[in-house]
Amino acid sequence: MIQPSVKDIRDFSFEELQEYLTSIGEKSFRASQIFEWIYQKGAWSFDPMTNVPEILRQKLAQAFILKPHKIDRKEISQDGTTKFLFDLDDHQKVETVLIPAATRTTICISTQAGCKFGCRFCASGIGGWIRNLSCAEIITQVLHVKEEALKHDNPLSHVVFMGIGEPFDNFDNFMKAIRLINDQRGINIGARRITVSTCGVIPKIKQLANEGIQIELAISLHGYDNASRNILMPVNRKYPFDDLIAACREYIQATKRQITFEYILIKDVTCTDKAAESLKKAFRGIICKMNLIPYNPVSEFDHKTPSTQEMQAFRNRLEQFGILATIRSPRGRDVAAACGQLRHATSN
Ligand code: SF4
Repeated sequence: MIQPSVKDIRDFSFEELQEYLTSIGEKSFRASQIFEWIYQKGAWSFDPMTNVPEILRQKLAQAFILKPHKIDRKEISQDGTTKFLFDLDDHQKVETVLIPAATRTTICISTQAGCKFGCRFCASGIGGWIRNLSCAEIITQVLHVKEEALKHDNPLSHVVFMGIGEPFDNFDNFMKAIRLINDQRGINIGARRITVSTCGVIPKIKQLANEGIQIELAISLHGYDNASRNILMPVNRKYPFDDLIAACREYIQATKRQITFEYILIKDVTCTDKAAESLKKAFRGIICKMNLIPYNPVSEFDHKTPSTQEMQAFRNRLEQFGILATIRSPRGRDVAAACGQLRHATSN
C-alpha cells in the first residue's frame, strides 16, 4: 500500500492513485474522476469534485494537498509572452513562461530552484542550486499556464522543459511529470509536443532512450568544440564535446528520432567561421535541426549579440554544410523571459 507520505496528490501517477484508493477501501474508478477534476477541469481543491462522495473528499483533503502555487508576480511582455514568478511553500521562487504563437501555445517549465551547471550566459545558474522541484511542483506550473492560456482562448499545446534547472539532474520527478502531462487521463499533451532540453548529462541521455516515450530531445550545445564548450558550459569538463556528440549519435540510432541542437549566437565567440567549420566536422552524418539563439543580455555577462547580418551569414554557412538551422526570434525579452534570462530568486 502506498502511504500518503507524498503529501501533494499531484505526486501520484494514475496507477498510484488507484492503488491508494483501493488500499483505503475505495473503488479504483474514483481515480478517473479525481484526475479529470485536477487535470482537465482545473480544480484547485477537492470541494468542487461533486461526483466524488463527500466523505471521500474529506478523507482526501485530510491526506493530501491540492492547491495552486502562490503567484508572486505575473508579467506580460509586449509580444504576449507571460512570465509567472511562483513562490513555493518554502519561499523558493521559480519562473514559468507562457509563449503564445500563431500556431501553438507553449509553456516553458522550471524543474529546479536554481541550477548547479553555471553556463556562462545563463541567469538561472548565477545563484547556484537550491533544490529539486517535486513532480507536483512541476505539474502545478502546467496547470496554472493551462488555465491562463484558456482565458485567452489559446489552449496549451506544447511543453518545453527549458526553464530554470537541468531536468536530467532531477530525472525521476521530471519523468513522472512528463508522464502526467502526456497521460490521456492527465493533461493529455502528445509526447511529440513535449521537448526536454539538457546541457549534456550523457548518462541520462542514454536513460531517456530506454524510457520508451517519444518526447523530443534538445541538446544545449552552445560550443563548437571542446575548448569553446569548456569555457561556456562547465558541464563539458565532465561530459566532453566529442563524447556528447557520440551519445547523440547513439540516441538517434536507438530511437530513430531526430535531435534538436540549441546553439547560442555570441558575437565573436560562437558566431565565427571557425565555429561553423568545427560544427561541420562534428555533425558529419547527423540529420538534425539546429536552433540558433541570439544571445539574450544578462547583466552579469559581457557577451554581445551579433548583428542580424552576422547571424544570417552564420546560418547560411551552416546550411551550406548541410546543417538545417533556424534563427529563433527572442520572445519576452522586455520582461526577461527569453532563453537564458530566467533567474532563480529567493524571498530574501
Ligand atoms: S542553461 Fe540550463 S543547465 Fe545551464 S545554467 Fe542555465 S538552466 Fe542551468
